[in-house]
Amino acid sequence: MSDPSPLATARAQLATAVDILGFSDGMHQMLATPRREMRVAVPLRRDDGGIELLHGYRVQHNISRGPGKGGLRYSSHVDLDEVRALAMWMTWKCAVVDVPYGGAKGGVTIDPATHSKGELERVTRRYTSEIMPIIGPERDIMAPDIGTDEQTMAWVMDTFSVNVGYTVPAVTTGKPLAVGGSLGRATATSRGVVDVAAAALADAGVPLSQVSAAVQGFGKVGSHAAVFLHQAGARVVAVSDEHGGIYDEQGLDMPRLMRHVAATGTVVGFDDAESIDNATLLALEVDLLVPAAVEGVLDERTAATVRARWVVEGANGPTTTAGDKVLADRGVIVVPDILANAGGVVVSYFEWVQANQAYWWTEAEISERLELRMRTAYNAVAELARRDGLTLRDAALVIGVRRVAQAHETRGLYP
Ligand code: GLU
Repeated sequence: MSDPSPLATARAQLATAVDILGFSDGMHQMLATPRREMRVAVPLRRDDGGIELLHGYRVQHNISRGPGKGGLRYSSHVDLDEVRALAMWMTWKCAVVDVPYGGAKGGVTIDPATHSKGELERVTRRYTSEIMPIIGPERDIMAPDIGTDEQTMAWVMDTFSVNVGYTVPAVTTGKPLAVGGSLGRATATSRGVVDVAAAALADAGVPLSQVSAAVQGFGKVGSHAAVFLHQAGARVVAVSDEHGGIYDEQGLDMPRLMRHVAATGTVVGFDDAESIDNATLLALEVDLLVPAAVEGVLDERTAATVRARWVVEGANGPTTTAGDKVLADRGVIVVPDILANAGGVVVSYFEWVQANQAYWWTEAEISERLELRMRTAYNAVAELARRDGLTLRDAALVIGVRRVAQAHETRGLYP
């Protein structure tokens, strides 16, 4: 059985793209290896006065097309290899949607749920200070990911700004509006997920309003994706979070569910729905499955239980290499993460452009430009897939990897 770790998955995907593109071993090695990695100790003064020593990372996988770009993750599962995988996916993602960035990712091994807001602020500021030498609006720009949010980005931006002595809004994206955030950023990833889901369904002549859907993960990506699917007329029959899932064959009442989650912090216990677990959700008889939680949930075993016709990856790396093969063999159409969840980084790019110009766009301008980018990227991927008989994942990887290699070759190898 193949290694299901995120890094093994990311490396196997790159190897497939390199094979299709016929690149040399040297080019393969260069694309597989992070350009720069920083690991830092992050000592935290706990509220009780004790010291907890945490570990943090920032990996710049590739910066050939522009500054590093990618989220900052706070989770007890974070390690250097996971950050390496996530950074590599950011490189291909930015290239697929053609935003002028390389790929990067950061993480701190910490469970945010067991730390106070004050502790999270101190961790964020110390981590930011430690990685100061390699970040900045022209070097590497952070955004939220699992376990971090707008407030985290405000603390990063403030720490960086105070250290350089002036305000630098463009050092992070996904900031609050009050400090130079962008309209539409908070829901951008989910909007993009639904845009590409609609495009993939349209290729089969199926409108979103005629499908049933299940969404795994009810965080920044999954919750809004479920709402947008519901607004587009899809029947969202199941959702889940880390505590469990809920199912209603008639379709969940999303506005009421959102109020329940706001009040209780979980989808569990929503009165007019049946309780299910996460494994059951993945195996439901629905048209569309949106894994929007963590890596590796669709492996060889769980992929074999999927009955959806379309899988649209809201999470990064939800499908392992073995899981991917099982889905492809069973005719399931997978819209891959580096395309499906790229809406977030697209609006991050818009936020950075706005901050650099100190001129902010309207929400209508943001959503129009986001939809155009997502549709353009989807069409290019789908066309290549059709032309060369590739899966959508391989086509997206080929486009992303080729753009990065082209940038590298055009610049030339120094010295
Ligand atoms: N963490 C998000 C992702 O994985 C956003 C990255 C960004 O906007 O820089 O795509």
